[in-house]
Amino acid sequence: MRIVLLGPPGAGKGTQAKAISKEIDVPHISTGDILRNEIKNGTELGKKAANFVESGKLVPDETIIEIIKSRIRSGELDRGFLMDGFPRNLKQAKMFSEMMEELNIKLDRVINIVVDENEVIRRLGNRRICSVCKSIFSIGDDGNNMKRCPKCGGLLLKRKDDSEDVIRHRLKVYESETKPLIDYYTDRGILVNVDGSGKEEEITGRILENT
Ligand code: AMP
Repeated sequence: MRIVLLGPPGAGKGTQAKAISKEIDVPHISTGDILRNEIKNGTELGKKAANFVESGKLVPDETIIEIIKSRIRSGELDRGFLMDGFPRNLKQAKMFSEMMEELNIKLDRVINIVVDENEVIRRLGNRRICSVCKSIFSIGDDGNNMKRCPKCGGLLLKRKDDSEDVIRHRLKVYESETKPLIDYYTDRGILVNVDGSGKEEEITGRILENT
């Protein structure tokens, strides 16, 4: 299966991609995770990307396309993939489509996770990531105030770009750059809208029904 997950920041793409990629046994490719890892390791790519990522701006398309091409070259995506955070604008989508044409492969499905904007803002403000296993949690729900990861005990951290002003900027970037992809993939007949509200497992079930 070759799947792209679409949706605003905070729609739950990362959480769902982890669950779905396990279920259908294809690699989960998160360009955001790849960039954060490069930044953490202080690589050349990380140094180039840091300012963009931390301020909620899109990293230049050429850099992102190079990341995807290197994954394709490595053979990692031969048995399918679940893209999370890529493509992020029309230019990336068109370049991605050309890459796939050259390889004689096609996208099977684009899942658009639909979540109300107020809910997205609430989720991003409450989001914490485990510094060790990278699991994603929401604090504040049910009055919980977790500091440690319930799965591995690692320290839970707030992403730098989950601060209020950067969240606002990321939502604007989503509206102007990423949202047009909904029409782009609808026109190609491969987009399915999935309700992203409710419990994690329910949303995973809805996505799996459509893959
Ligand atoms: P995410 O983890 O998907 O929310 O991405 C976090 C940040 O990484 C974004 O705000 C961008 O700065 C950068 N980023 C991730 N994916 C892309 C992409 N496909 N194109 C450009 N920038 C990206």
